[in-house]
Amino acid sequence: MANTDGVLIHPAVDNGIKSGNSNFSGGTLTCHCASNPVKVRIGAQTAHNHVCGCTKCWKPDGAVFSQIAVVSRDAVEVIENGDKLEIVDASAAIQRYRCRDCGVHMYGRIENKDHPFYGLDFVHTELSSEAGWSAPEFAAFVSSIIESGVDASRMDGIRSRLREIGLEPYDALSPPLMDAIATHVAKKSGALPA
Ligand SMILES: [Zn+2]
Ligand SMILES: [Zn+2]
Repeated sequence: MANTDGVLIHPAVDNGIKSGNSNFSGGTLTCHCASNPVKVRIGAQTAHNHVCGCTKCWKPDGAVFSQIAVVSRDAVEVIENGDKLEIVDASAAIQRYRCRDCGVHMYGRIENKDHPFYGLDFVHTELSSEAGWSAPEFAAFVSSIIESGVDASRMDGIRSRLREIGLEPYDALSPPLMDAIATHVAKKSGALPA
């Protein structure tokens, strides 16, 4: 196993993973603005929480990975200072709404009803002070951190550290999510019964 001393992934997992609470029913996400922060109420527990190495997800300062989970879009409500939200890239499959003052992404939404994950919003539960959110389960798009400037020589150490904290590293999504996407595609094409 590669040396994992000093390898940092994300502040929410670097000191071990906090387990979720099955009775947890949501909380409020707050952006990083000192005054008039954007607040988004999440009225349900999240699912499929994971760390993500892609270049699109918002990451806190200094972190190589983001931490992101999904929740039903019906459970997401902007409750304060929503006028500060802007879409990062309106042409992307996931429309990420960020605070234009501090840059923090408050939620990501899919508007294409044919998308396999339509109906789910993407949220960063670290923006909430409440404890009990679903725990991170795996690491997605790990090789993509190289695209943000991580030297490939560090990858052995980073993958070893992910396994050490219990986050199996994948270079796409986890197998269950990849299977769900492929099943969606097969049902659309008729390769599997709808
Ligand atoms: Zn802000
Ligand atoms: Zn990502």
